[in-house]
Amino acid sequence: MSDESMRGSSMSHVSYELDRGDHVAIQLVTYTCVEEHKTTLPFAADAEDIPTTWECACGETAGLPGVELPERPPIRTRRSHYEIVRERRSEDELAEIFVLKLHELHHYDSIRSA
Ligand SMILES: [Zn+2]
Repeated sequence: MSDESMRGSSMSHVSYELDRGDHVAIQLVTYTCVEEHKTTLPFAADAEDIPTTWECACGETAGLPGVELPERPPIRTRRSHYEIVRERRSEDELAEIFVLKLHELHHYDSIRSA
């Protein structure tokens, strides 16, 4: 296999050549997201308004070096059934309900076995 056949055109190949054959001076700008993913984009060398942030492929906001990234919203953890109940009732109330339900169950069992 010759070197020639090993070469191929990359799917990500980008031509910066203009129709008239001139080359545009470019600068590559790299953005980094909180997950440390790097996104490098070409901008014209004389571009004045290069965005300081860019959306990473993972969905996070990526920024130029030194740019403070927006804080990620806190991950909402799923509350247990007990935690939800505890928000509405005190331990004493729960103990009362527990005893009441035990009595109901005991009563139900005594009817059933009678
Ligand atoms: Zn990312």
